[in-house]
Amino acid sequence: MAPRTLLVANWKMNLGIAESVSLARAIAEGCSGLAQTEIWLAPSFTALAAVKESLSSTPVKVGAQNAHWADSGAFTGEVSVPMLKECGATFAIVGHSERRHILGESDLLVVKRAAAVAASGMQCIFCVGEKLEERERGLTSMVLQRQLIALLDGIDRKLLPNIILAYEPVWAIGTGKAAEVEDIASAHAELASIWMSTGHQQSAPRILYGGSVSPENFHTFVHLPSVGGALVGGASLVAEKFTELAKISEQQQ
Ligand code: PEP
Repeated sequence: MAPRTLLVANWKMNLGIAESVSLARAIAEGCSGLAQTEIWLAPSFTALAAVKESLSSTPVKVGAQNAHWADSGAFTGEVSVPMLKECGATFAIVGHSERRHILGESDLLVVKRAAAVAASGMQCIFCVGEKLEERERGLTSMVLQRQLIALLDGIDRKLLPNIILAYEPVWAIGTGKAAEVEDIASAHAELASIWMSTGHQQSAPRILYGGSVSPENFHTFVHLPSVGGALVGGASLVAEKFTELAKISEQQQ
């Protein structure tokens, strides 16, 4: 059985190869011997192979921050799933809010990425979440439905075991202001209910929370049954903070 809590580090466009390897080693050392917590790291594309190599004797997995749907071809600047697998990636993050809202990726485009990742046997961490203005207008539920139904409509249901959802309210990412525990619980319940109501799966998906997760706030929501772990940006760039999150996760069991 998979460990109860999954902690995923999203290093975004930070760190060179040597820095990534050094952080990966520090995290793997600080997180050794965990019983109930799994650690996955998403370095930049350029550091992926070296980070994977440096972790070969540890249970820590590595993955990518994005992936293209075609295996190869005229897609300048993109990276394909076979290329990622060759570097040792076992998962990819897709539909991160920075891809959706800064790089302009649409619901349909991110679903194409997700379908290719899942079809390859890799795990796909599919991010959804509302912007502040959408929350303030009472549209959170509508946005989550739109983003998740686009996925459920666009992917073969046999591939759903390879999907992990990440609820990442856009206003909480990188702001230092995590969502309140009630908001996390209600968004996760909403996502599980959409997933189940479309009859796609026997059981609810694993859902991570992401948005300014830190050692100061993690204990407030990690114990929720609907929280399968966290997708962590800023705090994952500091080995001590990320290791502390793993310790908090272990204490909650
Ligand atoms: C993220 O990158 O997905 C994220 C949640 O970032 P942060 O933890 O810095 O808010």
